[in-house]
Amino acid sequence: MARRYFIAGNWKMNKTSAEAAVLAKAVAQSVGGVSEVDIAICPTFTSLESAGREIKGTNVKLGAQNMYFEKSGAFTGEISADMLNGAGCEYVILGHSERRQYFKECDCLINKKVKAAVAASLKPILCVGETLEERESGKTIDVVSAQTKGGLDGLSAAEALNVVVAYEPVWAIGTGKTATPAMAQEVHAEIRKVLAGMFGADAAEKIQILYGGSMKPENADELLKQKDIDGGLIGGAALKADSFASLVKSAVALS
Ligand code: PEP
Repeated sequence: MARRYFIAGNWKMNKTSAEAAVLAKAVAQSVGGVSEVDIAICPTFTSLESAGREIKGTNVKLGAQNMYFEKSGAFTGEISADMLNGAGCEYVILGHSERRQYFKECDCLINKKVKAAVAASLKPILCVGETLEERESGKTIDVVSAQTKGGLDGLSAAEALNVVVAYEPVWAIGTGKTATPAMAQEVHAEIRKVLAGMFGADAAEKIQILYGGSMKPENADELLKQKDIDGGLIGGAALKADSFASLVKSAVALS
């Protein structure tokens, strides 16, 4: 069974609830009927409800950008997996490099979040990726392998089938610099090897591995044509319905 492409929009800390509804509506109108490709939008917590309302009943799914691993209690400012479920989420982005960098999230914390998400039937989109310094000192594969192993530690093969991995080189996020298709493919193939070592070759062949880092309509085709690139986690280009739709259409054309 061939893997389906998955195009997910990470809206980051953008859009009020009302603005998110407008964008979600435009996304639903342009790609809501697409069935060949998995599609998700990930607005901020405060926009999950308004954006979710606009995509309800379409093929566009809802995701969040973070969560905490505890079920409930005295964790001021945090959000649980059950709360995301209740808000209609199917996906949750975990371990994004901005969370690792600005909020000091480590693999150990991210792993707790991944386990809590899976236990609550949410599909984690686990982000991994090297900094420019790590790439330039030849550490890319070690860093990405360690983040993948650390993030997914302790999951069964069946649980891992509900996980999506996103390779996002930190130096390519929001910078306009993109990994070349060959550079990205090399890392994706290594991630799939790590997944095979952890969960077996069968499971590894089924897990979607997305590329993220300045993916846009102009460079998507060549990236998506790579054997182990199964879609994109899209930041900037997801904030305009037409460019997000164009990325979805590239994936449909290659399906
Ligand atoms: C992201 O932050 O997940 C991302 C890929 O951002 P951008 O597409 O803007 O580089």
